[in-house]
Amino acid sequence: MIAANNPARKTWIEIPSDSDFPIQNIPFGVIQPVGQSPRLASRIGDFAVDLLRVSELGYFADLEIPVAVFQQKEINDFIALGKTKTREVRNRIAEVFDADNKKWNSREMQEHLLIPIEQVEVLMPVRVGDYTDFYSSIEHATNVGKMFRDPENALLPNWRHMPVGYHGRASSIVVSGTDIRRPYGQTRPNADEPPVYGPCKLLDFELEMGFVIGKENTLGTSVPIQEAEDHIFGLCLFNDWSARDIQKWEYVPLGPFLGKNFASTISPWIVTLDALEAFRVNGPKQDPEVLPYLQTQGTKNFDIQLEVILKTESGLEHTLSNSNFKYMYWNMAQQIAHHSVNGCNLRIGDMGASGTISGPEVGSYGSMLEICWQGTRPVELADGTERKFLKNGDTLILRGFGTANGIRIGFGEAKGKIVDTILA
Ligand code: MN
Repeated sequence: MIAANNPARKTWIEIPSDSDFPIQNIPFGVIQPVGQSPRLASRIGDFAVDLLRVSELGYFADLEIPVAVFQQKEINDFIALGKTKTREVRNRIAEVFDADNKKWNSREMQEHLLIPIEQVEVLMPVRVGDYTDFYSSIEHATNVGKMFRDPENALLPNWRHMPVGYHGRASSIVVSGTDIRRPYGQTRPNADEPPVYGPCKLLDFELEMGFVIGKENTLGTSVPIQEAEDHIFGLCLFNDWSARDIQKWEYVPLGPFLGKNFASTISPWIVTLDALEAFRVNGPKQDPEVLPYLQTQGTKNFDIQLEVILKTESGLEHTLSNSNFKYMYWNMAQQIAHHSVNGCNLRIGDMGASGTISGPEVGSYGSMLEICWQGTRPVELADGTERKFLKNGDTLILRGFGTANGIRIGFGEAKGKIVDTILA
């Protein structure tokens, strides 16, 4: 077992029972304390662990990691140290804050390494080079196929043979808490009339999980599927905001463009793949059998409960969906093997996203498009209003966590508020 994952470990830091960040999580991110420079951090309970300070005080000295790695505004250089090193850092942080620790100074000293989370700004953790969005939930692809194509033949012929994806836009991936401006664009509300220009009227979210590439493959080489998980540093929640009316008019024949690239929101703490070991489960049976380069062994899916909450301007909260990452038909190893099978190079900090994660039942769908079935089944809120898509002033919140061996490990939130439109 990876030492940091030890479910028996206790810490003296007080952690709320429903926290996503017990001492067994130890995610990585970037914070900016008031009046100070950005730096790498972890999170335990309601505290940020200032890793620059931890490093400056010599806690990582024997690991031979330059202090400068922690004095950055993104975790890319840290990830680039490789999994052996980053795993040692994660183990060390767990050791330092272990309640039984005798080696690593006093609790009084350790308190100087912690900053209450409300006293820091939590920044975008990764410099994302390239971003790829997949379409790997069979329930989602089936729902969309039923709505837009053929209810009898919802999946396209390629779907069960490869993890379908498209290249998204990295520049507009933002950290949780960033306001989302309603995009303007071109739509065609009536098929018999010419298109019009104006604000998006069918603004939607997509419940997804993102993964961060932690190991590169050289251009011209592919990642064998058995090695694919070595190329994943960690995961985050991912909201692939979508302008359905813009998307519908523009997507033929080259796929998503301006209906997608105005914003995506991620949760700020990258939870390592290591920390999610206890949540491994089998994925759905793949039928027909996939080509050899996509065949995986062992448990490659993760049992992570996902929740989507709509919060109105007046503060009313409504749960739109409860889903689970385990439903994915195509797993991350298959996505990476497929992405690189042609020799495409994946670089450190690149991000992949799962595609909308919908479960089998109504109530577990991962987008307004499906929840309201193209606007035909509006969601009724307790204040008497209804939603078919998102309104200005609405905040959309994604949450996710797994529980195993009595330990809950989660991602915090990926949230964004819809604000008035971009000025033309
Ligand atoms: Mn998507």
